[in-house]
Amino acid sequence: MADCADIANIAIENNLSSRLACRVNYQQASLLECEFCGEMIPEQRRKLGGVTRCMNCQVAFEQGLK
Ligand SMILES: [Zn+2]
Repeated sequence: MADCADIANIAIENNLSSRLACRVNYQQASLLECEFCGEMIPEQRRKLGGVTRCMNCQVAFEQGLK
């Protein structure tokens, strides 16, 4: 995997969205398990960064159910 900072430096002149995407990845570590139900959070979802809930709990949270 290429270093995110290098990608950002390459893209800095012409692609703002690449820099923003890199920042999100490093923002915060994701949890391995959902903080609500303890379900494993899929790796694809954890890669987003700062993920603390499984998909089901995230949807429920956003709908105000939890
Ligand atoms: Zn959950």
